[in-house]
Amino acid sequence: MFVTISTTGTAGSPATDLGYLLHKHPDKAQAFSTSYGTAHVFYPEADAERCTAALLLEIDTVALVRRGKGKGRGGAPDAALAQYVNDRPYAASSLLAVALSSVFSSALRGVCTARPERAAAPLPLRVEVPALPARGGPDLVRRLFEPLGWTVTADPVPLDTAFPEWGDSRYVRLLLESDRLTLAEALRHLYVLLPVLDDAKHYWVAADEVDKLLRAGEGWLPEHPEQKLITSRYLARRWSLTRQAMERLELVRLAEADDSDVADIDNAVADETETEEKPTPLAVQRRDAIIEALRAAGAARVLDLGCGEGQLVQALLKDARFTEILGVDVSMRALTIAARRLKLDRMGERQAARVRLVQGSLAYTDNRLKGYDAAVLSEVIEHLDLPRLPALEYAVFGHARPRTVVVTTPNVEYNVRWEALPAGHVRHGDHRFEWTREEFRGWAEAVAERHGYEVAFAPVGPDDPEVGPPTQMATFTIRTEKEAKAA
Ligand code: SAH
Repeated sequence: MFVTISTTGTAGSPATDLGYLLHKHPDKAQAFSTSYGTAHVFYPEADAERCTAALLLEIDTVALVRRGKGKGRGGAPDAALAQYVNDRPYAASSLLAVALSSVFSSALRGVCTARPERAAAPLPLRVEVPALPARGGPDLVRRLFEPLGWTVTADPVPLDTAFPEWGDSRYVRLLLESDRLTLAEALRHLYVLLPVLDDAKHYWVAADEVDKLLRAGEGWLPEHPEQKLITSRYLARRWSLTRQAMERLELVRLAEADDSDVADIDNAVADETETEEKPTPLAVQRRDAIIEALRAAGAARVLDLGCGEGQLVQALLKDARFTEILGVDVSMRALTIAARRLKLDRMGERQAARVRLVQGSLAYTDNRLKGYDAAVLSEVIEHLDLPRLPALEYAVFGHARPRTVVVTTPNVEYNVRWEALPAGHVRHGDHRFEWTREEFRGWAEAVAERHGYEVAFAPVGPDDPEVGPPTQMATFTIRTEKEAKAA
């Protein structure tokens, strides 16, 4: 089974740049072993005008059977023969999608240090799959690819050319053409949609398939008209996973609706390089204060809830005492930026074992958040509508229940001082509320009371005698059972 990807070149950008984008040299034929056989990458043509890369997967049918997964979904127990005699070696299926993602993993993520500008730009693309099993026929093939900007040709392959009266097989010859997509987008479409059309996944669908789907679907799946079909077929019709994925896609849509979310005034300042003359940016002071509170609490396993673009996670990684860090955010976009900032994909094994980023909403209880020493909510609570705050409160203090919780939020009283700042430094548009010191104290004390925590307050930034500090911080510490009983 194979797929070819072709592009054409212009004067300034030769077609052979495709080799850089795929991280595979056009002059070489390469082979990679996968668990189901050997994947070959070669270029049937490669010059400045036209360049075609082919991925050919040579399936090892015996390995497939040994793994006991050659039957696909719904494989009947008595279909022993079908384990050996099936279309897997010839038809583009989920196996090809898996090979695609492992052989072209950097290209799939759009990573290309040699030609970053070409990786980021759309290019003329032509993708050909000679035999694609397409449950749903050419019509579904079009419904899946056309909304993504492809011109689709899907010709049904006759069952047997000698007997035209037998009609068409379930295979199509697929040709996709577009000059509106980046290579990474194209690969991600194939990665998700080939198995969707095949509709017979070869491996057990594990819970992390939801993450894989959302990662590969970033930027296109949330808006796709066939999102439900894609999601449910991709997840091999596991309804609980499908529902989970649909909910998270909805969250992505909501989060993207207010994209401005991720950069507010304080965070923007954080990216400025520090110089001697400039005072330490507030975001840095806040991070330092949070880390100090975590150290004082003796925390090793830390949650960064609403981690945004990962600045705090990055700072925590620099201190070995933090052995496990889980960053959670509702915005896939923020998480993508965070992963890039942390260079997650290039991290050594030891470092990588310390950190994870996951998508989730703090308005729902989440078992992944249980068992940590401490949780940080840095500049997050004010991004929730007030009526949603009790849900967050329960998810964090009632359900996850780390020993320590550090919460920071703006002090609205200080806003009069911000007005002295240069133009453009306005408070962030996505803040649903901003509290006075008294309001924050009232909320925090009530939360502590309801959930069995002690709470202490500290200023972050210059503590103005009149209006207080720009950022207010509360550190919650769980009461031990004994203390709780004594109280
Ligand atoms: N903690 C970071 C980012 C603060 S911005 C910092 O201190 O710099 C607020 C972040 O909260 C955003 O990244 C936003 O996506 C996230 N967020 C907002 N509502 C959320 C929710 N319900 N669940 C999880 N994250 C949420």
